[in-house]
Amino acid sequence: MKDDIQRLQIGILGGGQLGKMLLMPAHQWSLSVSVLDPSPDCPAAKMASQFVEGDFDDYHDVYFFGKGLDLLTIEIEAVDVEALVDLQSRGVIVHPAPSIIALVQDKYRQRQLLYERGFPVPRFALMEIGASSLHHFIQHKNLSLPCIAKYPRGGYDGRGVFVLSQPDQIQDLPLLLEEKIDIHMEISVLVGRNPSGQIAVYDPVEMVFDADSHMLDYLIAPARISGVLRQQLIECATEIAHSIGLEGLMAIEFFVDKRGVIYVNELAPRPHNSGHHTIEGAVCSQFEQHWRMVLDLPPGSTALRSPYVATLNIVGPADFEGAPHYRGWKELLAQPDIHVHIYGKQQSRPNRKMAHITMLGASRQEVEKKITYIRAQFHIEKAHIK
Ligand code: ADP
Repeated sequence: MKDDIQRLQIGILGGGQLGKMLLMPAHQWSLSVSVLDPSPDCPAAKMASQFVEGDFDDYHDVYFFGKGLDLLTIEIEAVDVEALVDLQSRGVIVHPAPSIIALVQDKYRQRQLLYERGFPVPRFALMEIGASSLHHFIQHKNLSLPCIAKYPRGGYDGRGVFVLSQPDQIQDLPLLLEEKIDIHMEISVLVGRNPSGQIAVYDPVEMVFDADSHMLDYLIAPARISGVLRQQLIECATEIAHSIGLEGLMAIEFFVDKRGVIYVNELAPRPHNSGHHTIEGAVCSQFEQHWRMVLDLPPGSTALRSPYVATLNIVGPADFEGAPHYRGWKELLAQPDIHVHIYGKQQSRPNRKMAHITMLGASRQEVEKKITYIRAQFHIEKAHIK
């Protein structure tokens, strides 16, 4: 890689809120970063050094976007991997590696690799076209009903995941079937690794999901877990990062069951929704950390700036689709240690990620009280545009 980092031509596939937040620290260092996204209205478009309209999952669009660049990274996993492989053979540096992106695009391959390398995963099996009856298959694979069924490709935010209890629920194969873990807590560990093999790990984060939408509702760091479990999660995340040869930042989602046993759920080799609290809540944010890792710079400190940090996810309300108006956010600014991020999406849709709000506090109760206050105070409404 060129020594003169400010002269590198860098690209990001995807221009959503993660792309926008990646551009914020990139500006601090005057990096030159282009963005490829199908929508010229996307959150990152205005902040990019250059915005290119195109599909990140189309071979030609990705190839033409990448061929003049020195370094390419992602803010979304649904990208065309074949183009990345070809760009890499032309000398473009791609972090994370195309093989890692391909791995996480397929939930079955991901499970299989983690299992083969000895990482703890739920029991699983791939039910393919032509498989025997569900009951026979389940028995044969040492699973039982109800189990969790997942489409191996294309799902996100819980879409494509369901509880399977009857054969007639199966409409499409292949399906990844998994033992249903008796989940006590869902945890995310953010880990960064640079090409020199240096690691940065953040404190495990407790994720709380919305019961209806299955989307992340809020997160609190540090998670309410024992020191032993915390250490176990940090070690597991570090080992996974080394094992797959990660270059960049990655979120690893874990389940902890009622007995305190941990399971790896999935890997997201990019900045992640579960790391937004690090912008104000940690010494080095997940976004700056990602740049440090892909540029082979020293890892930034992952220490929290406050005993407790929480982030509330704000999604589009269920009752309208259209231009958003944000009500109540100015009042929040009067509160110390509350930080509002509005992504700038032109259209709100039910459950679309529109904003997030981070709060710092001396105790868990304090940040929980702030979450309740923000829920009452901040709303997205339909804008009345003349
Ligand atoms: P996505 O990639 O769409 O987010 P996940 O695989 O993370 O899908 O699953 C979504 C949610 O479904 C998880 O956050 C968890 O609550 C639940 N879930 C997934 N797998 C299991 C499992 N094996 N046992 C119990 N719950 C699960």
